[in-house]
Order: sequence, then C-alpha cells, then structure tokens
Amino acid sequence: MCINCLKTNTPDRGSTCLEKGAYLMNFAGCHACKNVGFLKEESKVSEEDDDGEETVTYNHVCKECDHIVASHEYTFSVDDGFQEYSMNCTLCGYGSATVSILPDDPREKQLF
Ligand SMILES: [Zn+2]
Ligand SMILES: [Zn+2]
Ligand SMILES: [Zn+2]
Repeated sequence: MCINCLKTNTPDRGSTCLEKGAYLMNFAGCHACKNVGFLKEESKVSEEDDDGEETVTYNHVCKECDHIVASHEYTFSVDDGFQEYSMNCTLCGYGSATVSILPDDPREKQLF
C-alpha cells in the first residue's frame, strides 16, 4: 500500500462499493515510474466464510512497473433479508450499503 500515488487516502465514497476495477479519479500517478494511465488487478482472492460473508481482496498494481499502489477489500453478506456491501481501499475509498432483497422495501427510495 502506498499513499504517494494517491490524491486522497481512503476517500469517503458513500454507498459506492466496487467488487472489481479501480477508482482512477483518486490515482495521482505512479510515483515510482510516473505512469498516470492504468492499474491492473493482481492477487485476487475470493473467500466465503461460515456465515456466508463473501470477501474479495486484490491489489491495485501499476501496469508499467508492478508497483503496488493499494490493496482492495470488498465484502458482501446477506442478513435478515438485507444485502450488505462494504468496500475498503486506500485508492477506491470506503463505502457501505445495505439493500433490502424484498422488492418494495420503503428504505430503497431513500438509498437511490
Ligand atoms: Zn506509490
Ligand atoms: Zn509504476
Ligand atoms: Zn480499490
């Protein structure tokens, strides 16, 4: 993990949770090789624990020099009819969301 390549360390993303990809708006450029273009995803691991919580982790890596910019964690679980998502990454930021899996839950209108 490296804060030199970021504009903001772990920005608040509200209810945005990315399971893949990168928040390139927060990428200031690779401080090691000055690449400002693309990052690749490496070491992607997807795990499910006994409670049914799914965790996806991967690293954001500079495409040019393999410098590790940030490590990304995404979790997903279903609890009492609600889907809960969260994201924690120094590049993509922190976000969490709770969505009812019932079709007409009134809380949905507040979320979207
Ligand atoms: Zn860096
Ligand atoms: Zn680089
Ligand atoms: Zn990320």
